[in-house]
Amino acid sequence: MPIQILPEFVVAQIAAGEVVERPASVVKELMENALDAGAKNIRIEITGGGRQRIRISDDGTGIIPEEVELAFQRHATSKLQTADDLTSIETLGFRGEALASIASVSQLTIITRHSAVDSGLLLQLAGSDIIRRQSIGAPVGTVITVENLFYNTPARLKFLKKENTEKRQIALYITRYAMAYPHVRFTLEQDGREVFRSNGSGHLADVIVSALGLDNFKNMVEVTGYDSNQERRPEILVTGYSSVPNLHRADRNHITLFVNGRWIQDTRLSYAITQAYHTFLMNGRYPVAVIMVKLPPAEVDVNVHPTKAEVRFRDPESIFSAVQRAVRRAVVDLAQTPAMRGGHFGGIGLNYDNETQWQGHNTKPHQQLGMNLDLHSAGAYTRTPLNPSQLDTDRPDAIPEGIGLPQKPRTLPILRVIGQIGATYIVAEGPSGLYLVDQHAAHERILYEQFMDEHSRHEQATQLSLTAQTLILPPIEARLIDENLDTLRGVGFDLEPFGPNTYIIRSVPALLANQSPIEVLEGIVADLEAGTSPGQSAIEDKIITRVCKHGAIKAGQILSVDEMQSIIRQLERCRSPHTCPHGRPTMLHMTSEQLAREFGRLG
Ligand code: ADP
Ligand code: MG
Repeated sequence: MPIQILPEFVVAQIAAGEVVERPASVVKELMENALDAGAKNIRIEITGGGRQRIRISDDGTGIIPEEVELAFQRHATSKLQTADDLTSIETLGFRGEALASIASVSQLTIITRHSAVDSGLLLQLAGSDIIRRQSIGAPVGTVITVENLFYNTPARLKFLKKENTEKRQIALYITRYAMAYPHVRFTLEQDGREVFRSNGSGHLADVIVSALGLDNFKNMVEVTGYDSNQERRPEILVTGYSSVPNLHRADRNHITLFVNGRWIQDTRLSYAITQAYHTFLMNGRYPVAVIMVKLPPAEVDVNVHPTKAEVRFRDPESIFSAVQRAVRRAVVDLAQTPAMRGGHFGGIGLNYDNETQWQGHNTKPHQQLGMNLDLHSAGAYTRTPLNPSQLDTDRPDAIPEGIGLPQKPRTLPILRVIGQIGATYIVAEGPSGLYLVDQHAAHERILYEQFMDEHSRHEQATQLSLTAQTLILPPIEARLIDENLDTLRGVGFDLEPFGPNTYIIRSVPALLANQSPIEVLEGIVADLEAGTSPGQSAIEDKIITRVCKHGAIKAGQILSVDEMQSIIRQLERCRSPHTCPHGRPTMLHMTSEQLAREFGRLG
């Protein structure tokens, strides 16, 4: 083929490949335009995960009729004039590529009216060709409708993610921008249903409550990072909210970062924030944070990434340390101010007396164990009554031992219970030595196998009805529940959608009798969020594992000999008694031989 310059239309489609990767990126670009136009109200309506239709309406400045066509040319922008301007970008857009790119791969309609002009203009394009242009009455602002995205690029269509993934990503973008622009009122509607709304009050706190939910917000503290005692150059202002140490997550995805009103990804900044929790959080746990960094535009290069999701700082070190110190101070101040202990949001159960307790109740028994093996002092642990239905001696449907049950090969010898250590471990003796059994892990395994057995026999999970408990989730997490309502029902959770992102919990699996259903469901959502393994059975397995975790006897719970016997008997019947459903060991075994050797009785 001879060398030739590509037609403009082909160039636009190639460029579109970078800017308009997926429906969510269209939403992001159009939303950025609305914000740049100074909108106070932005409404986003999505159909079919954005593939069918995306409509964004704003009440910003609008575009004068003479410039509307121009806006759809490549490199047409009102935000930049000289290369020098690139060093001091204060708008979200600046490349003049989005409208041209989006128009080249969709059927697009714009209705826009500038505040200084009497009537609006309607322009309709299909794959960059103008097919209609007429003046039209319209309020000041802009409405852009993008239909049949990628209709003319079949290759791209094939690689699109699932509709639900796209819906989530869109909701994620909107909530992020709502946080960065708390003065703007955002409304997101997906398939005719409102899934997110911010009130435009100007308070970040309000948006966080809408986006992450009140429960999360209650466990966050305000970060205000202006170093008054330090004369710093450049001036860096760090604000936002970050979680108290008893709210933490399994990955960094819950750290949201903005630089000058732009959402960014920055591994080192996330690391700086995580480091601010040093000794407050266990390894592998991460805070929930929304952090805004403001600095002079000349200090940051935003022109380094096709979708502008990464930036480069001129002086990264000073920014990292400013962020880290601001977050650290917020977290440490909280620990040291007794007045802050009920939380400054009023009775929210920020419940910690000292730093060690912050690490979560799960670790407490383990921490004390090494120091204190005296069983008498174990009374210090809380004793919650066992739920009788958890122990098979009392289960109405329990099958008496040895009757009618097919004989399973033994995976565990018969064990005799001797006692309990630290209200956490059961000591037992078997034909070949000593066994230490982790009561929680063991019970998790037992419940898991029982649950799975019932499930594989297609028995309806035994349920416990509840009186109207309401679960309210952030929109993104609500999607996960929506997608899995049927699976949840199969496992015993009856959830009834009730308004946006809200569910009434009608019933839960019976073995959660003494547990907070809301906590369990939040745990399930977290597991699903963290999940990478696809497929229905993997999802189901995750939910069941979580149910068993909550239903199982906790560490720190004193057990009677009968209760311990019952756990051991049931564990003996498990197919895989040696590990809990998460793969951790349920027991340690010290053989008679090992004992003899340790005591110097053997060679
Ligand atoms: P950029 O945002 O990088 O300038 P775009 O292709 O996204 O490039 O937009 C081109 C131009 O169209 C913008 O510079 C702006 O002047 C105008 N524009 C786009 N969307 C809007 C809107 N919602 N309201 C007002 N003007 C808009
Ligand atoms: Mg733009």
